[in-house]
Amino acid sequence: MSDRLVQVDHLRQYFPAGGYGRKKRFIQAVDDVSFYIEKGETLGLVGESGCGKTTTGRTLLKLYEPTGGKFTYDGKVVFDIENKVSVDMLPYRKRMQIVFQDPYASLDPRMTVGDIVGEAIDVHKLASSKQERYDIIIEMLRRVGLNSEHANRYPHEFSGGQRQRVGIARALAVSPEFIVCDEPISALDVSIQAQVINMFEDLQAEMGLTYLFIAHDLSVVKHISNRIGVMYLGRLVELADSYELTTRSLHPYTKSLISAIPIADPKVAKASKRIVLEGDVPSPLNPPSGCRFRTRCPYADERCAAEAPEWREVSSGHYVACHHIEKCR
Ligand code: SF4
Repeated sequence: MSDRLVQVDHLRQYFPAGGYGRKKRFIQAVDDVSFYIEKGETLGLVGESGCGKTTTGRTLLKLYEPTGGKFTYDGKVVFDIENKVSVDMLPYRKRMQIVFQDPYASLDPRMTVGDIVGEAIDVHKLASSKQERYDIIIEMLRRVGLNSEHANRYPHEFSGGQRQRVGIARALAVSPEFIVCDEPISALDVSIQAQVINMFEDLQAEMGLTYLFIAHDLSVVKHISNRIGVMYLGRLVELADSYELTTRSLHPYTKSLISAIPIADPKVAKASKRIVLEGDVPSPLNPPSGCRFRTRCPYADERCAAEAPEWREVSSGHYVACHHIEKCR
């Protein structure tokens, strides 16, 4: 039996952006994205703001109606747009959860923390009595480092880090297998970020969780991820084991992200070269022809403008989309 919990094939998410008939325009937020995640694994997804990583995670949970592609979860097809397959999400909502970026906006200020965590228990009818519901809530708060006293308080009484813990307890309340962690530490103080990352790791070990961990900062993702995928303008450009990706990257965009990671050792930092990309990320309304990275790539040539690079496996588990990886080594 395969250990793949998540299998994504050619995922596409376009959002309408005005116009009629043949002049209809679309934001190509996610285009032809494929990856898998094994049970108990963390796949990190990185890229600049607006590159489609958050949309990818939310589309899998059908918080957006997918435009194209196929999503297979634990061997069962959840949606296959080209073949018009789309199953009821309710049973999957218990198995797949999301932790949102903004702990300030994602918690209802009028609900107590106990009720926020208890809401999903009610929706999925996971408790047969008030006592059992209460016990589950307290257990979930305990798992994230809070306690029973916190259950009767309101979100505004908590710090940012504590609110994110509440968001995590809410996701855990239904005993999920897979969690989309959608930039869960980006809004937090740097001093709190490491604590929350450690908590994600501890919960994974205790509960056998599988994560899609989304962040714009590669230095954060590399610590928690087994493998990392890099996105640029709606497409995956490279994916590999974390160590392989951060030490032997092949795509020029990945190289620029790695060069931006601060280095603690001043000697090594002095010897390393920062790769600064020219220009801005083009609009996903009108992405460049061929390779979407070509307007910022120092190695771009005519082929890059004419032909989109194929997503190919160049060594075991190391995938890249670039015509000229030999130039970039
Ligand atoms: Fe650069 Fe061409 Fe490779 Fe794209 S395909 S990353 S433009 S060299």
